[in-house]
Amino acid sequence: MDKLTLALVAHDAKKDDMARFAAMHEATLRPFAIFATGTTGARVMEHCPTLSVTRLKSGPLGGDQQIGAMIADGKIDALFFFVDPLSPHPHDVDVKALMRLALVYDIPMALNPATAERLIETFKAHIAQEA
Ligand code: PGA
Repeated sequence: MDKLTLALVAHDAKKDDMARFAAMHEATLRPFAIFATGTTGARVMEHCPTLSVTRLKSGPLGGDQQIGAMIADGKIDALFFFVDPLSPHPHDVDVKALMRLALVYDIPMALNPATAERLIETFKAHIAQEA
């Protein structure tokens, strides 16, 4: 079976949460192909040197849209998108478009750490089944 592919995106105020989440689950995430927006990817790689992370463009420069296109192409199995609901974002339309495509293609989407913690458990179970 092909490697499952995860997408990681975090707004600036949520990047610490994403780095913590990835570090806490580094062993679980290791078998996955991971795509991330530029700055989120850099932070995750800094904290989790053993993960295979492909960095796309930074979100405001098109990274969210690149992930959206991958979702439309059926190349993303789950989206972990830690959203900051308290700040305005210049690329809000891209953020909405990304969430919309995740809904259109019905892929699992965790928008906060609490949901991410639960979603990652389902992947642990999946990996255990494959082993
Ligand atoms: P970034 O993009 O990881 O490059 O900061 C995330 C975003 O704000 O959409």
